[in-house]
Amino acid sequence: MSPSTPADPSLVLDTARPHFTLWGTRGSTPTPGARFLRAGGNTSCMSVEGGGEHFIFDAGTGIRELGLELLAAPPRRVHLFITHTHWDHIQGFPFFAPAYLPGFEVVIYGAEGFGKDLKSVFSGQLDREYFPVQMEDMQSRLQFRQLTASPMSIGSAKVSWEFAQHPGATVGYKIEIGGKKIAWVPDNEFLQGYTGPPEEITRRHPLALPYAGMIDFLTDADIVVHEAQYTPAEYEKKIRWGHSSVANACVLMKLAGVRRWVVTHHDPMHDDTILETKLNLTRQILAQIGHPIHVSHGYDGRTEFF
Ligand SMILES: [Zn+2]
Ligand SMILES: [Zn+2]
Repeated sequence: MSPSTPADPSLVLDTARPHFTLWGTRGSTPTPGARFLRAGGNTSCMSVEGGGEHFIFDAGTGIRELGLELLAAPPRRVHLFITHTHWDHIQGFPFFAPAYLPGFEVVIYGAEGFGKDLKSVFSGQLDREYFPVQMEDMQSRLQFRQLTASPMSIGSAKVSWEFAQHPGATVGYKIEIGGKKIAWVPDNEFLQGYTGPPEEITRRHPLALPYAGMIDFLTDADIVVHEAQYTPAEYEKKIRWGHSSVANACVLMKLAGVRRWVVTHHDPMHDDTILETKLNLTRQILAQIGHPIHVSHGYDGRTEFF
């Protein structure tokens, strides 16, 4: 082969294929520092690209780096879906550079039922008391939309949502793109208050019945990105904080028949060593309840093509 022979094009990554990237996998608050290098310290944010559209789920601090990547390409429209407006899901937005630039269009979606409307919450964190630049200084075309229909068709993609168990009006999302479905449910306290054996919970168990909507929602997802924030021992002290124990999250994966689970929203107290132990515990519990699926931890910067 001469040096000028072109490389086999099939061996070059086709970046037009649908893919997702996790930009922030930390829950509650950012965690800089050497003990958190492997999973990363940015709060919740995931992007999904494909079919010519760009989707973002949550605007935690991870959205800052995503914004920098978007600047490398010509201005475009992006769809930003917010699960709820706790700090760790909106605090990166003031640092989302495309919002400041003309030519970009940012369509922001959130559920009904927040105390303040979505636009007020977003402009509130840009109040002069908190931040030097205001929403009026953002030169992109910003639009705020309340979630109504589910699913919504956007280009060739379909985005659907379902209420999660979490303080305030909180939803999880599922996007169908390129024939695959990926769910994003970073905050969800499944089986709130339950600390018993995970193998005792079936679909018909009275404790599982209120969660039928979320169970059904996840059933057809190819990949589920969902939390499992507390170890069972920690959960006993954190009931009603809005997050699942590892054991209860494992039960949800079983009842929904999930085959691939990416765990996100890592607790700020869990450094890389603790997370490694927790992942092994997750696999142990999944085996114990007879649902030994593919489970891995999300980390900041992880990209997967469908
Ligand atoms: Zn959160
Ligand atoms: Zn929250």
